[in-house]
Amino acid sequence: MSVSLGLPALPPPVLAPRRKSRKIRVGKVEVGGDAPVSVQSMTTTPTTNINATLQQIAELTATGCDIVRVACPSADDAEALPIIAKKSQIPVIADIHFQPKYVFAAIDAGCAAVRVNPGNIRKFDDQVKEIARAAKDAGVSIRIGVNAGSLDPRLLAKYGKATPEALVESAVWEASLFEEHDFHDFKISVKHNDPVVMVKAYEMLAERGDWPLHLGVTEAGPAFQGTIKSAVAFGALLSKGIGDTIRVSLSAPPAEEVKVGLQILQSLNLRPRKLEIVSCPSCGRAQVDVYSLADAVTEGLQGMTVPLRVAVMGCVVNGPGEAREADLGVASGNGKGQIFVRGEVIKTVPEAEIVATLIEEAERLAAEMDVPDEGAAPVVTVG
Ligand code: SF4
Repeated sequence: MSVSLGLPALPPPVLAPRRKSRKIRVGKVEVGGDAPVSVQSMTTTPTTNINATLQQIAELTATGCDIVRVACPSADDAEALPIIAKKSQIPVIADIHFQPKYVFAAIDAGCAAVRVNPGNIRKFDDQVKEIARAAKDAGVSIRIGVNAGSLDPRLLAKYGKATPEALVESAVWEASLFEEHDFHDFKISVKHNDPVVMVKAYEMLAERGDWPLHLGVTEAGPAFQGTIKSAVAFGALLSKGIGDTIRVSLSAPPAEEVKVGLQILQSLNLRPRKLEIVSCPSCGRAQVDVYSLADAVTEGLQGMTVPLRVAVMGCVVNGPGEAREADLGVASGNGKGQIFVRGEVIKTVPEAEIVATLIEEAERLAAEMDVPDEGAAPVVTVG
């Protein structure tokens, strides 16, 4: 058992203070201001299939998703919203394109928020007053979701393509309509599939108002490409304090989006780090199959939620150094593994016993660890 001295641990450093955005609510989740950056995803099941949708939401919730969005392209989907909104453990956002009437249906259904796309709902501008009043009365927030693929044709004609300026102009215009009707509980996204355009658009938008920003690289691609595009774009923005909620868009199961989103936030210390495997890339000096070893250790420690750093190193060049810096580590060589715990060699085991020993020691350390408060505010490193 570890002994707490009653001293609060310092929160880990972050790269920049958060941009000062206004705080809104998406159901029970706060977005903007000092609220932790939240992770969103979107269901892929037909919304009309209530059981399958709720099953997928449960899986997303278990993975760590904070907010979920469901598509609402038809009256049948709108009819499914009340049960989904009621039974979901996390706030549900209805995603509305083309048909303003479904915005009202989603508000009546008890959804926590509604996403509207100004480019797809020309009629929308005329209905902002009614939407703002209905949303305000119900305590529902809105996302103004501008998307490069569905930019308002007027702006496409003006700019020739979906430039950062065009995306921002669309968003600011729609925001001004809501603000004219004294509605302020909205966040904005300006998504593009090109991280460079997307980053520029968000940087420009961040200068124009204090709206909370929902980050997304739209149609980012299959898992590998989409993960990299999203990590690069979100990293560029979050490292400057821009971004209040994120959605990684992958052509992959939505739970994968959540895992990637959480990992991005953890890498930037915007979420407490959990299990971290530090493994070397291997090279001609390796005296063990590092890939298999790292995979086996990762597999064996899956589900561990404590902030444990485990080093898996292939030889004695960098191995002992990295293993010493980690909570737990192995430096392999000559058919053996030196096992380190908190900087000290505790034993040397035959290669065949490395994985089992690391897992056993990790479980022992995890049982001893105090898990930091998830809500602890991060510290800003200066210089
Ligand atoms: S730790 Fe050893 S095996 Fe791994 S990359 Fe470095 S030198 Fe190569």
